[in-house]
Amino acid sequence: MNHDGEHLTLVWFRDDLRVDDHEALTAARTEGRAIGLWIRESRGENGLGPRQLGGAARWWTHESLRVLETELARLGIPLLFAAGSAADIVPQAAADLKVDAVRWSRRYAPAARRLDEQIKTDLAEAGREVHSHTGALLVEPWTVSPQGGDFYKVFTPYFNAVRDRSVGDVLPAPQKQNSLTKADRQTLDWHSWVRDLNGLGLLDGTDTGSDSFASARTPQWWRTTVAEHWNPGCREAARELADLSEGVDGYADSHDVPADPDSTSGLSPRLRFGELSPRQLLAAALNLPELSDDDRHAWIRQLYWREFSWHLTYHLPHVESEPVRPEFARFPYEDDPEALRHWHDGTTGIPLVDAGMAQLWQTGWMHNRVRMAAASFLTKNLLIPWWHGEQWFWDTLVDADEANNPVSWQWVAGCGADAAPYFRIFNPERQRERFDPNSEYVSRWLGHGPGGVSQAERSHGVCEPIVDLKASREAALAAYDRMKSEA
Ligand code: FAD
Repeated sequence: MNHDGEHLTLVWFRDDLRVDDHEALTAARTEGRAIGLWIRESRGENGLGPRQLGGAARWWTHESLRVLETELARLGIPLLFAAGSAADIVPQAAADLKVDAVRWSRRYAPAARRLDEQIKTDLAEAGREVHSHTGALLVEPWTVSPQGGDFYKVFTPYFNAVRDRSVGDVLPAPQKQNSLTKADRQTLDWHSWVRDLNGLGLLDGTDTGSDSFASARTPQWWRTTVAEHWNPGCREAARELADLSEGVDGYADSHDVPADPDSTSGLSPRLRFGELSPRQLLAAALNLPELSDDDRHAWIRQLYWREFSWHLTYHLPHVESEPVRPEFARFPYEDDPEALRHWHDGTTGIPLVDAGMAQLWQTGWMHNRVRMAAASFLTKNLLIPWWHGEQWFWDTLVDADEANNPVSWQWVAGCGADAAPYFRIFNPERQRERFDPNSEYVSRWLGHGPGGVSQAERSHGVCEPIVDLKASREAALAAYDRMKSEA
């Protein structure tokens, strides 16, 4: 029991920046009062912890935390910020704040899970109650496995096994709590790790451990240009959820039209940072009377693709760097920094790819159809290793996700679980004709990438294709054959 005899819980927020449908927060408030904590974590020397945030995600996190702090304050719950090693900070915070319990929503990437297990053990050994909760997924990865196997490697049987599972009811935000006592308030300023939000340095563009171009431009770029397209935080997320039908109505037929901003929901960053839970999304889609069954089911199926990515990531510890299909470790990729730079800059001379890279640079997001075309072009027409593209997406996407990003890259590159067969090489020109027949998408974005070659300059031949699509396709197939013959 805490100072005034009321049960006090430290809720450690991570990728769950919301107050609705938050099991850990609700449990804390059912027992007594809560204090929130968010840590800008650095991966320890042992490699444990979450992947370091990319540039766009750092900006999003900063903004989302600002909103969370306000929303929690409305409920009488303080939110503390700290920076450093969670293995040191969480047990120390629990001791110094004299909390009775620590709670958090579970995370599923192997290196982060191992850290959480270690912290759980340390807290329990110190005699503290510690509980983890479901929050980021509908289906926890260890709760489903195929007969005779550890985990699913193919989506459809996975989906069939989990699609009808009950996921429980969406929880409302907890009731407002009484203000903390004077003694509690004094202990809040508890350690040299404690910062205010600005002190976390999320907008500084420094100490990312990455020397990439995108990271170098972090502060000025993401705060201005990308900020015009998004309003991070759980409050706006709730408003978008209320308008879900805009992005889901017609989904079955039109989800592949990149020019139409309502062809998909645009909710991926909300899920990535847990501003909305997948359970809220599922419940909303099931309860929209105006949706056709086709649209509803097509969209819900995509939610389960995200679940499947996490299922794989949980079971495959190195999905961000090692191919799921081991034979691809021998794939003869090429080291071509100049071609990679053209791809980053949106100056490959292939309109759909360049428009997609520009949309990404300007907004921190790219339509799924174009993500596939841009990734296929990099890994197959340019033969550049998929992890270079994955890293660029990681730095520039506002929805950069530890599971969806590497798993999708591996899927496109042909080395992932349930990947498209290697020889299915997207032709970005055919894709443009099919999905952007009036060049609406391409006209909107072309010339707005980091390389900034305008449409007028292009039509004067400034940006000729850097490869011949047909010849490079054949080279990719030959490289694939070489890899197979070396088995
Ligand atoms: P909607 O079509 O409205 O779908 C709803 C939700 O379902 C999405 O928010 C997302 O969480 C999930 N979803 C949809 N499509 C997929 C898919 N193909 N795979 C997994 N989940 C899906 N998604 C990310 O969230 N983060 C990433 O870092 C990411 N990187 C990608 C990289 C590549 C190379 C490719 C091809 C795809 C990547 N995706 C990633 C998947 C997909 O492109 C995005 O989830 C989608 O574009 C998000 O837009 P939306 O929210 O409007 O999706």
